[in-house]
This record gives sequence, structure tokens and C-alpha cells, in this order.
Amino acid sequence: MKIRFFLKITAVSLIIGALFIGVAYFIPSQIINNALRNIAGTFFVDSITVSGLIDKYNNYLDHQNVISPVVYGQDRPKIKILIVPGHEPDYGGAEFGFVKERYINVDLADDLARFLKTDPHYDVTVSRDNKKWLPELEKYFSDSWDSINLWEKGKKDEMLELIADGSVRKITNPAHQTVPDSVATRLYGINKWADEQNFDIVINVHFNDYGTRRLNLTGDYYGFVIYVPERQYSNSKASKTFAGSIFNQLSKYFAVSDIPAESVGVVEDQDLIAIGSYNTVDPVSILVEYGYIYEPQFKNPDVKDAVINEYAYQTFLGIQNFFKASNTSGILSDTTLLPHIWQKNLSKSNNPENDILALQLALKKEEFYPPMGKTKNECPITGVFGYCTEEALFMFQANNGIFDEKGILGVKTREVLNVFFSGNKNSGN
Ligand SMILES: [Zn+2]
Repeated sequence: MKIRFFLKITAVSLIIGALFIGVAYFIPSQIINNALRNIAGTFFVDSITVSGLIDKYNNYLDHQNVISPVVYGQDRPKIKILIVPGHEPDYGGAEFGFVKERYINVDLADDLARFLKTDPHYDVTVSRDNKKWLPELEKYFSDSWDSINLWEKGKKDEMLELIADGSVRKITNPAHQTVPDSVATRLYGINKWADEQNFDIVINVHFNDYGTRRLNLTGDYYGFVIYVPERQYSNSKASKTFAGSIFNQLSKYFAVSDIPAESVGVVEDQDLIAIGSYNTVDPVSILVEYGYIYEPQFKNPDVKDAVINEYAYQTFLGIQNFFKASNTSGILSDTTLLPHIWQKNLSKSNNPENDILALQLALKKEEFYPPMGKTKNECPITGVFGYCTEEALFMFQANNGIFDEKGILGVKTREVLNVFFSGNKNSGN
């Protein structure tokens, strides 16, 4: 669930705005333009580049492996990554039954941080947990509230001026969600703080929903989508390349959102505050909606935890691919759900569980899932044993000469699967 810009008008911002315009009025516009062209976050200038990021990754030296850390000190910094679980500790986000987006956003952010920390090239920060903001950020909000509002106003005025003179094109994005002023200010505050702290990458973590879904009823759409800054923004190019790398990894296993406006998978947006509406973010910035809040894999707590961990792992692998880096996680597989050993029989009568989740992954690897003629959206990875799993299992069995366990995971099918996927060639015997 995303928060887009909406016009904030408060007495304070009007007064500050009037002062700002008053000062600006006396400075020749040419001087302002020259100044703006040479600082970060400026239209028509890339604030960050793919090659710059990759160079920084490769130039980092692990100080523990260097004889004289003084010599190789500050000029070999790490890649600074900020992970922002969407919404606030006690406010906002999609909800379905007992599942609250603002909590599972934190679960995913923490899983992703754990994977990233296995690579010493990264310096990883998470902006909040389920109870509170990161202390530094909390302090920044209280100390800098007025300067955040002033900065936001300045960025808006600058862009509106460029739109007025025709050098920037206003893009109309669908569905604007209104949020309280304080929420928007904290979002812009995170942007300003990330710029000032020289973060290289900001990853916003969300789960999706849509406005017309009827409360308490499962919706019609499935899948993930990645939002990136619109192409006129300074951080757009690098963000799109970065997003593309994560998209390639997530889409190996997971469906892409089938809402028409999101079905391209990586979507540009001009109004999402978190990725830098009004050109307010210098670092690479993406916003991932990992799935719809009502999708069946989030209902069972074990399956939910395993799937969220897998989303985080695929995101991590996408980031490693972007930097052309190795997988440092210690997991010797391209999924956290395999290897796996199936120790009991399974059929449609079973409740959702991780054995079924691993079965779907295994059938996916064998190219029987989703079953022939079905899409990933019709048959997503859910941990639920339904028609899709039964059909895929049936085809797997036919292919392996098993004809008496039709669509049920019985002893013979388990034996074959355990040979293929237990990670130990002898365990199926
Ligand atoms: Zn959200």
C-alpha cells in the first residue's frame, strides 16, 4: 500500500513559503539555476550511476584484511543501504484478517538486512521496528521538523517552476491516497535524511492492496510489483537498473501483479513520496510491493514466515547480481525452501504448511508448476494444496512412472522427490 503526495497546506508552511519566495525574489534566477545545476538532487543531472555504485562496491576493502587500516581508511567506504519497512510503527498499511502490512513489512526488512549483512561490502540500516523508529531518525524528525517542511516546499516550488516553463513534464498517476500531514512529513524526512547521510540505496518494503476490494473479502489480484522514480528524476536510471535485477530474481518464482497498470513489473511513478516525488531522493530508490495482503500464503504463520524469508532472499540475490557479487548468504541453493525432505504424505485434505510450500518449489524446479496451461497468477506459490498442486503432482508422477498415487504425495512420490531435493543423494533409499 503506497502513499502518494498530496498538497499539504499548514499555517507554518505558508509563512515559511512566503519568506522563502521573498528571499528568492531578490536573487537573480540565473544564479539560482547555476547553483541548482551543481548540487545533488537536481533535475537533468544523475544523482547516482550504476557504474559509480559498482565501482564503490569493488573498491571497498575489508579493513580486517588490510595491514594498515589508516592508509585504506575512509576513502574505501561501504555501500550504504537503507531498508524502509512501509508505514509507521503504530499506524497505516493494508490489513486482512489478522495480517497487518506494517508488521510483515518489518519481518521482510529484517530478513533482508540479515542476508545483506553476510556481505561485508554493505552497511545496512533499517528505519524502524514494530514498536519505534530508529533512534537517530526519531531524533531527526523532532529536531528538523521545520527544516524538513521548508525543504519539501522548496523542492515542490522548484519542480512546479520547471513544469510551468515546460522543461519538466507532469505525469498523471492513478489512485492518490491521502495521508495526514505528519505522515507525509516523516516520509519526506526519511528522504532528506537519506540524502544527507549519503545512503547509496533505499529499499521500501510494502505489501499491496487496492481501493475497490471489499473489506474482509479476498481480492482478485496476485503478485509483486516494483515501483521506481519516474524517468525525469535524478535517481531514475540507476534505480531502474537496480529494480530490474531484483525483478529478474523475484519473477523466477513469483507472479507479477496482474493489475493492468502494474503488469509490466517495474513501474515508473512521479508521485510516490518514498521513491522521491519532487526529486527528493538522491540514492537509488525502489518500492517493492511483494504481494497482496490477502494472498493465501500469509494466512498460516509458518508459511508466511517462510515465504517472506524467501522474498527477502530473492531480493538479496537480485542485489548481488546487480553488483556482480557472489552469494554470501551461506545458503547453497537458489531458494531457501530447498533442499527439503518430505516425511509424511500430503493431499488436498491437508492444511497449508511448509511441506506443501517446498513441494510447490520442487515441482516448479521440475517445470511442472504451474501446471500446463496455467499462469503463475492462477497458480501462485502458496503452501496451499489445491487444484494447481494436485495437477502438477499428477504430471510429475506420470513423468516418473508412478501411476498409483494420482495427485497425492504418497510414499513412492516422496522417495523420488527426496532423491531429487533432499540435498543428499542417498536419503531417498
Ligand atoms: Zn504499504
